[in-house]
Amino acid sequence: MISIEKVTRTYTNGDLKVEALRGVDLTIDKGEFIAIAGPSGSGKTTLLNIIGCIDHATEGDVVIHGHQISTLNDKQLTDLRLHRIGFIFQTFNLIPVLTVRENIEFPLLLMKKNKPSKQEIRKRVEELTEEVGLKEQIEQRPYELSGGQRQRVAIARALVTNPDMVLADEPTANLDSETSEQILGLMRELNKIEKTTFIFSTHDPEVLKYAKNVVKIRDGKIV
Ligand code: ADP
Ligand code: MG
Repeated sequence: MISIEKVTRTYTNGDLKVEALRGVDLTIDKGEFIAIAGPSGSGKTTLLNIIGCIDHATEGDVVIHGHQISTLNDKQLTDLRLHRIGFIFQTFNLIPVLTVRENIEFPLLLMKKNKPSKQEIRKRVEELTEEVGLKEQIEQRPYELSGGQRQRVAIARALVTNPDMVLADEPTANLDSETSEQILGLMRELNKIEKTTFIFSTHDPEVLKYAKNVVKIRDGKIV
């Protein structure tokens, strides 16, 4: 599903060059639950952004669902991101003025092709809200929720379009250890129920026990 070959990413700020990725090869199959583990600054976010088509490689090949990413135009990339990839962030990134329901349904409202009907949206959002354990909170706003509950909303939002893969950049970094375990457990369960591939990054060795596979990264290289 994802094939990355000899990928480098160099950031240039004036005369300063930072080699965030230095020749990464990686293949990820459908249905995996994989952790990208490494210390701060090792290149985890850069790698996830490239897999998620948010950023581009400086050199090398990135193939996602058979698409050679470097050949796609902006519209095709936007389409790929919206329909096939879900994102979860360290700081949850919910929209504060929207309710849980509205936050979760938001990606569906952006869809142009294959846009579901109002009833379908309602059904899908309610089904997911129940799966992530927030049925009672569906009409609440993010400020009324705990960190763990906010991340549950973000997980439901990432899954609402039925993406092939969900990318989660340090999803538990702002949560206490008990809540982290619950969130990873929930992601793992959804990986089974929804058959969605999950790729999450972490600098915390504690959460690696939840991964089916672990890819270790250090100084921009897989080790
Ligand atoms: P991680 O997520 O593992 O902490 P990152 O992928 O964010 O690592 O960063 C890898 C390296 O690239 C770090 O040295 C970081 O400072 C650098 N870096 C990341 N983004 C930028 C940027 N936009 N401009 C310059 N350097 C960057
Ligand atoms: Mg990071």
